[in-house]
Amino acid sequence: MVIDAAQEKKEIINRYRRLLRKAKPVLKEGDAKLIKKAFTMALEAHKDMRRKSGEPYIFHPLAVAQICVEEIGLGTTSIIAALLHDVVEDTDIELSEIKRLFGQKVARIIDGLTKVSGIFELDSSQQAENFRKMLLTLSEDVRVILIKLADRLHNMRTLDSMPRNKQLKIASETIYIYAPLAHRLGLYAIKSEMEDLYLRFTDREMYDTIARNIRDTQAARNKFIKQFVQPIREELDRLKIRYEIKGRPKSIYSIANKMRKQNIPFEEVYDLFAVRIILDAPPEQEKSLCWQVYSIVTDFYTPNPDRLRDWISTPKANGYESLHTTVMAKNGQWVEVQIRTFRMDEIAEKGYAAHWKYKESSATHESNLEKWLAKVRDMLEQNDHSALDFVNDFRSNLFSDEVFVFTPKGELKTLPYGATALDFAFEIHTQIGSRCIGAKVNNKLVPINYVLKNGDQVEILTSAKQKPHEDWLRFVVTSKARSKIKDTLKEDKKKLAEEGKEIIIRKLKQLRTEPTHLMLEQMREYFNAPTHFDLYYRVGKGFITTADIKRFTEYKPASPLKTKPHIPVADAKTIEQEITKIKNRYEDILLIGEDMDVVDYKLAKCCTPIPGDDVFGFVTVNEGIKIHRTTCPNATELLANHGHRIVKAKWTSQHEVAFLTGLKVRGTDRVGLINDVSKIISEELKVNMSSMSFHTDSGIFEGEIMLYVNDTRHLEQLINKLEKVEGVVKVSRFNSKE
Ligand code: MN
Repeated sequence: MVIDAAQEKKEIINRYRRLLRKAKPVLKEGDAKLIKKAFTMALEAHKDMRRKSGEPYIFHPLAVAQICVEEIGLGTTSIIAALLHDVVEDTDIELSEIKRLFGQKVARIIDGLTKVSGIFELDSSQQAENFRKMLLTLSEDVRVILIKLADRLHNMRTLDSMPRNKQLKIASETIYIYAPLAHRLGLYAIKSEMEDLYLRFTDREMYDTIARNIRDTQAARNKFIKQFVQPIREELDRLKIRYEIKGRPKSIYSIANKMRKQNIPFEEVYDLFAVRIILDAPPEQEKSLCWQVYSIVTDFYTPNPDRLRDWISTPKANGYESLHTTVMAKNGQWVEVQIRTFRMDEIAEKGYAAHWKYKESSATHESNLEKWLAKVRDMLEQNDHSALDFVNDFRSNLFSDEVFVFTPKGELKTLPYGATALDFAFEIHTQIGSRCIGAKVNNKLVPINYVLKNGDQVEILTSAKQKPHEDWLRFVVTSKARSKIKDTLKEDKKKLAEEGKEIIIRKLKQLRTEPTHLMLEQMREYFNAPTHFDLYYRVGKGFITTADIKRFTEYKPASPLKTKPHIPVADAKTIEQEITKIKNRYEDILLIGEDMDVVDYKLAKCCTPIPGDDVFGFVTVNEGIKIHRTTCPNATELLANHGHRIVKAKWTSQHEVAFLTGLKVRGTDRVGLINDVSKIISEELKVNMSSMSFHTDSGIFEGEIMLYVNDTRHLEQLINKLEKVEGVVKVSRFNSKE
């Protein structure tokens, strides 16, 4: 490779100047000098290094700093840290030197960044542990994560020069953890660029097709948008409101997702773009002006009332504020309109960092970020989770949307989507959660497993007699509630075991038998309990009564002090009998429906078993035991390849617990059909639905309903009723949720 050194030097200086130019508005006295010092240090440290593309290495830290300033809105400390982010890891420079030259704050951030960098290099459990460390650093200084995101974004932008296997690895890490993190921090622009780049490197064909289609339809789209906004513009001008209107297509990645999920071609994606109206408004008039413009838009076009989203009155937890509505254009096409102010727009694009510019009016959002970080800290401090569990929990919290609910006093609480009244109770206080017997939602009585909806006002009902049950683990979604319930169950079990031990000793004394260790050991044998603890627990719980204990002493009345005779091993047959006896001990059959504290199990999502189904348990590596139906599409594979991880399982009687299952309803389309179907489900049979989707195609109607039933009998009853509805041809159970 021929390198023109002079040319390269010029280019480096150019890029450095561009960075300074962009940073200028945020620089304070003396800042420029510090940045220059950091730049010179980085330049010198990396002088012999080149990137895979052949470019001088310094291009990378310069680009990362540029992203921090331009796309995230960070200031001097971050610029310095970004410029130096790779020196401790890749060159001879030590952290102490950075601390001496740039101070404690910069040194801490760089230390955090250096520690984070190895995250995905090791096996998965190590990754998880490192990820946990990264988040601990994050809660110290959020800039670590922001700079890390800038670093990752630049690496994704320059992924072309990497070998194929590296491309795939980096791209998947990005979609797995960095894009959701960016989303959670409100960095929408970075999040969607990361997603688009992920698609580009993992499914080039799809990416190119959509990109080409977007380009090809540009002219027609512009024309449509122009016509659509014309009357709105005229009205805004007349009222002398200052504004800007953008009509941008959605990201390639989100279009691709829509095409895949709904299995449709590009032409049929109806919400390809959104029209954004950005208003110039002083802080005190922001809300009223946005609603005024909403009113103007809906004067011209009919809105879809189901699609109104007001994130101005209640901003998302990541700080997003905007008013969204979907209206019908003159040609019958639905168009999403987003209404917001310039301040809101900047925050939407750049995330929390942009708040720093609007300090005066952003106190509430700052505290929202604080709340989020506090939650992360909370999760980190609960040490009994394995690191992998933690990452899974954390990711599901990142992905799931949120519900906003209110306390009786009107205080807003944000919970993950799917959270129940019980989660809410634990969110307020552990004591309230532990004693929760139900709730009043919007003044209506609901059970503790009621799934919260946006805007619900929730009052928790408690009773001093209540305590956590194993069942509860099935319908809480927050990690806080889960771990608190588990803790209590563990403690209860200990207490019951202690009581059980006392009962045994008392009973034995009463029967004038010495409670020696040997005696207790024989008793354990007699009752087939795997451990002494288990024996005590079963007595404490009343599974083994004092009458049973008496029977035991009568069974061995001769001399309990004499050692138990060995089983004479006569022939192979006896041994086999013994083995069967051991194998058939109760602990080898997983009883679903009680004692969830004994074994942690979950119901598999691929086949959504409900009581009454034939089931088996499968021991997974990270998630405890998963219960599958024997008819599950995955069953053969699991049984074939992992036989040793199969556990027998059967249902015990259920105490009014409901299980999620899916029904497919097919029939001929007629007016009122959906209404009739949902009426039977919710009113006649009092079944709770979790979701319902219908579509009709040339007179054929197809619906998918996810609902809660108690068992297979209950489900059959429901199917029978639904099949009697006029127009319904077939009702069948379906497996997967997705
Ligand atoms: Mn880097």
